[in-house]
Amino acid sequence: MLLLEYEAKHLLQAAGLPTPKGEVIEKARQSNLPLPLVLKSQVPVGGRGKLGGIRIVSTTDEYTKATESLFNFQIKGHTPIHLLAEEKLAIERELYLSLTIDREAGDIKLLAHAAGGIEVEANRSGFLSLSITEEHIPAKQVAEIFDMEERSPDIKRLLRKLILCFIANEATLIEINPLVLTTDGRLICADAKIELDDAAAFRHDWHFEATQIEANFVTIDLKGTVATIANGAGLAMATVDAVYDHGMLPANFLDIGGGATTASVMTAFERIVAYPNVRAIIINIFAGITKCDEVAKAVIEAKGRFPDLPPLFIRLAGTNYDAAANLLADTNIPLHNTLEACLQSASKEISS
Ligand code: GDP
Ligand code: MN
Repeated sequence: MLLLEYEAKHLLQAAGLPTPKGEVIEKARQSNLPLPLVLKSQVPVGGRGKLGGIRIVSTTDEYTKATESLFNFQIKGHTPIHLLAEEKLAIERELYLSLTIDREAGDIKLLAHAAGGIEVEANRSGFLSLSITEEHIPAKQVAEIFDMEERSPDIKRLLRKLILCFIANEATLIEINPLVLTTDGRLICADAKIELDDAAAFRHDWHFEATQIEANFVTIDLKGTVATIANGAGLAMATVDAVYDHGMLPANFLDIGGGATTASVMTAFERIVAYPNVRAIIINIFAGITKCDEVAKAVIEAKGRFPDLPPLFIRLAGTNYDAAANLLADTNIPLHNTLEACLQSASKEISS
């Protein structure tokens, strides 16, 4: 599972590693941090800088324009649900550092390069690759390749925290690119990519944006015309079956689970709008732990964010139904009383 940058940075912070002062921003929320700021699109892909997903803003006007633009800006098929606003660093140098599992050697490999940043992939040579363990931290060599011999003790502390973070979280990759040396001599993890080992999920209580959806989202048929969102595996399967029974082709299975939040439901919409043939979305929620109003909020937000969203056919029941019905009543998004009613309307929509 690939974490978003802000999630990766939370893990680094918990391990005592230095990251820029930052704040996660949702749509229509202001940052409390002082300007200038760096605004970073939180999408699960690299190369955001080159593609326009990183903006430096110095005035409130620039801030407003950049956030608006970034929230609607697709990067390799992903639109962000969050932005990360961070203090602008005064950069002296950009370095590269990563830890990965070397399956052949059965150990953890450290990779370092003196020229990190957005062009690091172009560097074919100059990488230092060494085994690293908690007991054996090759700080001297890393300091040397960074041309920072005098900072070897600092680099040792940083690498120790990094490998402890890697092990404690059962990561398969931690990449810091760039590790920034600031003009006032601080070493700061300015960007972070972390992949966690899905096979270790049962040992952890992970709540990341990717967790819920990746685990419970299955593509059934890319040519499918109906997307489904339901809660609980049983209800989700029954919803898919009912779509088939009404002569339509389901595109996906999705169980949004018990703790569905606006963010996790938005992630589901994001995946659904990427399907080429979907002409109707059926939402079937029997809310216990899930809250109908959370789902309603996500639906309203999704309508705003995806102007081409296919028509929604929604049946909600259970916890906070009234609040959800009130929210939706203000927006002209109709509710259906039964799944049957949803299916009949969806079927009409598709054959129209
Ligand atoms: P990526 O392109 O997805 O890897 O995103 P990064 O977070 O690595 O940012 C890309 C580039 O933007 C970095 O290599 C820096 O050159 C630049 N950048 C990011 N944060 C800052 C900052 O705080 N100050 C300055 N001056 N540049 C930054
Ligand atoms: Mn980067």
